[in-house]
Amino acid sequence: MHIVHIAAELAPIAKVGGLADVLLGLTRELSCSGHDIDIIMPKYDCMDSDLVRDLVIDNANLMSFFEGDYFSNTIWCGWVENLKVYFIEPHHPRLFFKRGCFYGCHDDMERYLFFCRATIEFMYKKQLRPAIIHLHDWQTAVLAPLYYDVYNSLGFCQAKVVYTIHNLEYQGRCSPANLSKIGLDGRAYCTSDKLLDPLYPDVINLMKGGIVYSDYVTTVSPTYAKEIITPLGGRGLDSLLRFYNNKFKGILNGIDKNYWDPETDRYLPSHFSCREIPINKHDHNVLDKKGYLKRTLRERLLLAEEHSPIVSCIARLVPQKGTELIKHAISYIAKTTGQFILLGISPIPTIADEFHALRQTFADHPRISINLHHNEELSHLVFAGSDMIILPSIFEPCGLTQLIGLRYGTIPLVRRTGGLADTIFDVEFSDKSEQMRNGYCFDDPTIQAMETTLDRAISHWYEEPNSWHHLVVRAMKCDFSWTIPAEQYLEIYQQLAQRA
Ligand code: ADP
Repeated sequence: MHIVHIAAELAPIAKVGGLADVLLGLTRELSCSGHDIDIIMPKYDCMDSDLVRDLVIDNANLMSFFEGDYFSNTIWCGWVENLKVYFIEPHHPRLFFKRGCFYGCHDDMERYLFFCRATIEFMYKKQLRPAIIHLHDWQTAVLAPLYYDVYNSLGFCQAKVVYTIHNLEYQGRCSPANLSKIGLDGRAYCTSDKLLDPLYPDVINLMKGGIVYSDYVTTVSPTYAKEIITPLGGRGLDSLLRFYNNKFKGILNGIDKNYWDPETDRYLPSHFSCREIPINKHDHNVLDKKGYLKRTLRERLLLAEEHSPIVSCIARLVPQKGTELIKHAISYIAKTTGQFILLGISPIPTIADEFHALRQTFADHPRISINLHHNEELSHLVFAGSDMIILPSIFEPCGLTQLIGLRYGTIPLVRRTGGLADTIFDVEFSDKSEQMRNGYCFDDPTIQAMETTLDRAISHWYEEPNSWHHLVVRAMKCDFSWTIPAEQYLEIYQQLAQRA
């Protein structure tokens, strides 16, 4: 089956968060099971082009419509992790994707509207005729109305459209005039059955457009799917999602089992597995090596070498991730026992300032390391060398860091919400079988609950090393790969493709 995925991120070349990992993992799984996969994304100046193989120009002058005029684009084609990727490079005077960053520009809305119009024009002109067009998040949602209302009548009409909500917090709200810039009559879409925002008058909601116009809508975990159809979790879109209940489903994300593999990880100086005894004399990848990586991590971040657990947090520092609880966890560990590593960056200036202040407070602290930047290579070492990883999220559509943590034997401590509730089961209090108990959970997003959970996990680490060891092995054996989720997506694709 020919499937085209269109998104704003792709690991490892253009990654801000989990969206990039999902694009890589899902498309690679689909590709490995024999499907013909194309990915289309912007050609960012800051993407890691060294990781794109055989980059060539596919179309040197694709004209696309914007604000009543036509602008040229260069379309590039290259290979990322053996996946075929088309890159759209607009030659608009505003240099939409030459900003030195992925998101966070004042005109993000126009950047992605331009990208969508150029993308569909490219697919149309190149006569790409996939069975499925799979869109991700608000940045690409407008492709659904563009496809059905503009390009179908031009004969580009055999594909079905799937839309995935990765995070309902970012819905893509704009004025009707913005929509008109790409050739859709903004005012005509400002009705409740189309793109009118359910909360704000005269506002267009692109994510709503993705939901209304797509043939199928998914989100990234079953529990998040249940949460966002409630008024509390739905951020204005709950009644719409309830209305479209028959074309809406939560499918749990996986992680790419090759990219996130402690036995082969390209970023690690040494490898390990959950095997305690080597399988042959050449097998050095035994669990003990995790201890070596812990020492390496400490050396790298100038933490003291001592008998204590390392607790880590790797996250975008936004309120969703429980930034107040993360700050508290750092201070609590500094006051009590253990070591803490934070790797995170905040797009919100006030939150960034707070964490910079905290870094000052703990500068040169032998047990605290605060790293406020994005660093893919370091993230792999932190996952591998730590003992625990915390995700005290206020809400979490799926969450990948807990899944990566499990694969690297780094035990997750999570607040039970969204995908965290679907993947992490408390070692003491879960109703699941012992085999499935793989971490620590708490319900209330409070300082007390965070402290109690840290205490429980840290005491377990110090006081019952054998039992902790078994927990690590159990965690590493959990299978959260893309195999099953990709089958679930395929089932949806196939059902849609069979429809006339
Ligand atoms: P979200 O998509 O909400 O950011 P996820 O848990 O789904 O959260 O995915 C986060 C991904 O981004 C993980 O692969 C994580 O390792 C990575 N990540 C987050 N912050 C950083 C950082 N500062 N440096 C490197 N990787 C990061």
